[in-house]
Amino acid sequence: MTPRAHNFGAGPAVLPVEVLTEAREALLSFGDTGVGILELSHRSDAFVAVREEAAARLRRLAGAGDDWAVLFLQGGASLQFHMVPLNLGADADYVVTGVWAQKAYEEARRLGPARVAATTEGTGHDRLPDALDVRPGAAFVHYTSNNTIYGTQWPAPPGAGVAPLVCDASSDIFSRPLDLARHALVYAGAQKNLGPAGVTVVLARRDLLARSAGRDLPPMLDYAVQARHDSSYNTCPTFGIYVVGLVARWLEAQGGLAALAERNAAKATRVYAALDAAPHLYRGHARPEARSLMNVTFRLRDEALERRFLSQAEARGLVGLKGHRTLGGLRASLYNALPDAAVDALVSLLEDFARENG
Ligand SMILES: *Cc1c(COP(=O)(O)O)cnc(C)c1O
Repeated sequence: MTPRAHNFGAGPAVLPVEVLTEAREALLSFGDTGVGILELSHRSDAFVAVREEAAARLRRLAGAGDDWAVLFLQGGASLQFHMVPLNLGADADYVVTGVWAQKAYEEARRLGPARVAATTEGTGHDRLPDALDVRPGAAFVHYTSNNTIYGTQWPAPPGAGVAPLVCDASSDIFSRPLDLARHALVYAGAQKNLGPAGVTVVLARRDLLARSAGRDLPPMLDYAVQARHDSSYNTCPTFGIYVVGLVARWLEAQGGLAALAERNAAKATRVYAALDAAPHLYRGHARPEARSLMNVTFRLRDEALERRFLSQAEARGLVGLKGHRTLGGLRASLYNALPDAAVDALVSLLEDFARENG
């Protein structure tokens, strides 16, 4: 087998080796069932236990009590762009800090009079807004905790006043403690920091679920229906739920979210320090105070150098460093599961390349 590369891809992204090894075993036979995890009925006792355990672990990590629903849905974060306003009402305020936030806003506009509470478009989404113009009567306020493409991240949830706060946490969920009490709904496509593509985790305060009552929404798009059926109104994404459960167990074994936050900060600090040490060559996209600990976005002096950097990276076994097509340049994603050894390799490359191209 080809040895595993240092994978800095933004998503689907690196998963813990321990998780992959266990999942590999489960492919042929899960537990004592004699049936592979991909072949197991979503209604079997064995799988229901998997789903319940995964939900319980997410609940513990998030600090979510019984007044919260934990849902496993499909359609990615992009379907949540539609489901959130469909269920909660589209007279909502959006904080537009990047491509995904903009898409979420546009999806709400399809359904009603959503408005922009702040935007950072004018400065190429290189920072967070200073202030939000939110209405107390808004159906909710929506923000993106980590802007995967531009590499900015909210250090703490923004103040939304009295309106319920909704967060797209796709690229930084469980990278640090989650202040759930400040939120009404948090969602995340799993494929960045939680598991494989194909499952989306939604944490929703139960009192909000009643907002869709009597509206006869399509059942698959109705949070209340999904909650009532324990995410199994139809065949749920079984393998994704299984792997998310393994990742949640791994997160707990790492010492929980506070320990992970510390490690993630240390990882990102080392990468930013290497960039800052060679300002003649590297230029970060995000302003220092808004820098993401998950996605480090930067450019080199010119595109020819960027191409050379990428090919040297590949020669050293570092992959996934090409930036998103919207922004260009380079991007290093440093999710929970990215090992310290990968950061060591990236920092060495940044230092060597700066020395050779001074
Ligand atoms: C990747 C990403 C999305 C899109 O996720 P899909 O699951 O592909 O729909 C949405 N929001 C953020 C913040 C992302 O990083």
